[in-house]
Amino acid sequence: MIAVLERDATLTRKAEIVRFLEQEGFRVQVSETPEGSFVSVVGEGAESVAEVLAGMPGVAALRPDAPGYPLVSRTHKPEATRVKVDEVVIGGSEIVVMAGPCSVESRTQILESADAVRAAGAKLLRGGAFKPRTSPYSFQGLGREGLELLAEARERTGLKVVTEVVAPEDVDLLAEHADMLQIGARNMHNYRLLSAVGSQPRPVLLKRGMMSTVDEMLLAAEYVVAGGNPRVVLCERGIRTFETSSRNTLDLCAVPVLKERTHLPVVVDPSHAAGRREWVPALARAAVAAGADGLIVEVHPDPPNAASDGRQSLTPDAFASLMKELVTIASAVGRRLELPEP
Ligand code: PEP
Ligand code: MN
Repeated sequence: MIAVLERDATLTRKAEIVRFLEQEGFRVQVSETPEGSFVSVVGEGAESVAEVLAGMPGVAALRPDAPGYPLVSRTHKPEATRVKVDEVVIGGSEIVVMAGPCSVESRTQILESADAVRAAGAKLLRGGAFKPRTSPYSFQGLGREGLELLAEARERTGLKVVTEVVAPEDVDLLAEHADMLQIGARNMHNYRLLSAVGSQPRPVLLKRGMMSTVDEMLLAAEYVVAGGNPRVVLCERGIRTFETSSRNTLDLCAVPVLKERTHLPVVVDPSHAAGRREWVPALARAAVAAGADGLIVEVHPDPPNAASDGRQSLTPDAFASLMKELVTIASAVGRRLELPEP
């Protein structure tokens, strides 16, 4: 529920309203926007105090809180949130590209990948150390050793590291080694994991579940923010539909829909959507044109021999060409993408 305040409501009035709600046991969020001031009740049960609240001095009207995700909703915070991964800003005018292999396989493989994606203009290195594989017989990742290799790649290249966390008990270990924690599609509904990444300091890359609606993704993001961590970046990575010609169906509609519903930055993963490297550049270009704040792309120095997702991984050369194309697309839609000098 949202209390819309009167235009001339004084600070004292606002404080009284907040105090009343907090005494009733509610958590509140105050927003000052060009459209006016609002006090939002976070969570459920506000109907019980609606009558008293509506009668309080300074309250102009009550509005139902339709989405159920007040902390991530645009209604409550109209200006876009910029999420910083150290000095890299996601959600500003710059398109931020994260790239690297699906999984960390060896020292040579991750260092070669890091050198290549850095030279092409990526700002973050991706690579799974803990892999949530559909089959228990598939490569499950190098675990802690993979994290150490990622840290070495960061030292060498200056790239920030984004890597997936699959279990609440690993969150501290991951937060120690990575700059950004990824929640994978298979774990978007793992609410204990969402709360766990909500109570650690690293920013979070939250991927859309393959069978989740946009609103379900926003509710998952709300878990992280409600847990205490406001630094969440959302990722559209394709959903399961009746169409089987591509690995998933990239829901590009989700980009403008998310931009309308939430203030959080939105990135797109064209690799897991396409499933085939040939189709990745087209989806990547379309995503930037559609208003995404960034991309996460799988790149491998030797895709045919990758331990996971080789079929959808770009070669370093193909990735470098894509980055050049993205510069043009970015500027056509009023964004920036700067590549390093060759
Ligand atoms: C990945 O990023 O390698 C991955 C497993 O992605 P998703 O969770 O989107 O399937
Ligand atoms: Mn992958």
